[in-house]
Amino acid sequence: MAKVILKDINKSFFRQRNKSKDFEVKILQNINLNVNDGEFMVLVGPSGCGKSTLLRLIAGLETITSGEVLIGEKNVGSLLPKQRDIAMVFQNYALYPHLNVYDNIAFGLRRINKVEKKIDKIVNNIIQLLPKRFRYNSALEVDINQKIKQVSKLLQLDNLLHRLPKQLSGGQRQRVALGRAIARNPKVFLMDEPMSNLDVILRTETRSQIVKLQNQLKITTIYVTHDQTEAMTMGDRIAVMNQGKIQQVASPLELYNNPINCFVGSFIGSLPMNFLPVTIEDCSTIFYDKFSLSIPAVRRIYLKGHNKKLAILGFRPEHITLSVPSINNLQVKVTLVENMGNEMHLFTETLSDIPIKIIIKYIGNNLIKTGDTLWLSINEKAIHIFDSE
Ligand code: ADP
Repeated sequence: MAKVILKDINKSFFRQRNKSKDFEVKILQNINLNVNDGEFMVLVGPSGCGKSTLLRLIAGLETITSGEVLIGEKNVGSLLPKQRDIAMVFQNYALYPHLNVYDNIAFGLRRINKVEKKIDKIVNNIIQLLPKRFRYNSALEVDINQKIKQVSKLLQLDNLLHRLPKQLSGGQRQRVALGRAIARNPKVFLMDEPMSNLDVILRTETRSQIVKLQNQLKITTIYVTHDQTEAMTMGDRIAVMNQGKIQQVASPLELYNNPINCFVGSFIGSLPMNFLPVTIEDCSTIFYDKFSLSIPAVRRIYLKGHNKKLAILGFRPEHITLSVPSINNLQVKVTLVENMGNEMHLFTETLSDIPIKIIIKYIGNNLIKTGDTLWLSINEKAIHIFDSE
């Protein structure tokens, strides 16, 4: 187990323009992150925001443009990937197709003990010269065998050890990849979208298996995903990334309840947050067109230091109820209804000159259809106020 500390990390790639001069593309900017001993940290963000690049920097598979990576308080900048005491699980599992499950898991163990491996090879060669009944396994092979027994039991792979990767299902292959990482007993697990090749049901099952496993082993884990549900259900803490920068690092609940900006607000949550451009008067009342809302005292702390009267009001689709005509309710027109079985997603627009899209999560029996006009009551205790750009 070890802490992982990322200090002021910047990463640029250089691309060629017109076959003449290279130009710099900044992929990661000023990344600072402390991952605690035994913590499950998720890096989440849209595709292309730099999550994999950051993971590959920690693994030593990419060079850092500037900054430091510390694993267990040791600066690993000059160390090769295999010297960093990490194990990585990739999206495509990277299993050797010609090796069976046993040998795939054993591969890393045989590789890391290079000197022992040489001695072991000599011993093995001698053993092979003995008559069959006197042959025995070398010490290293006995160790490996024991380790594989433990790991395969943990991951329910005991009955599959003789199979080749092509004879396994997606979920089983994924468990072999995990097994290979666990068997090496690393200080840190790095996982890059390890479930993206699994179907939805298997992903839900595997999600809880990985979390359970990590809880048992308590190995510091950094897990990359673009899926906010995965992040919310797996991480002790989540680092939300966008355009090469970390936006916010917090527990799942804290991110949901107190997103630091509009990006985090819209990215975290099963449906995107709604945003309205508003004016605020006397630090206590929000105005949008004919609609007004009083800001409860608990939410006013966000207004400290805001001299500006323009702001963005954020509220989640699940914090809206259908109500009656009133100045304190927002009038909208329905543009699309999605019936999800147990709930409806109502896509609507405000009736102002520049219509703003509002999504509502509706659980109820009213028959609502495209073109209907609704009055929305917003739960003021659950509103968010963000700086207007
Ligand atoms: P994510 O994992 O969040 O989807 P990546 O870290 O894979 O994002 O990529 C971030 C950005 O870096 C992308 O725009 C990608 O095209 C670019 N990138 C990644 N690797 C390289 C590379 N080797 N050379 C140039 N650009 C790269």
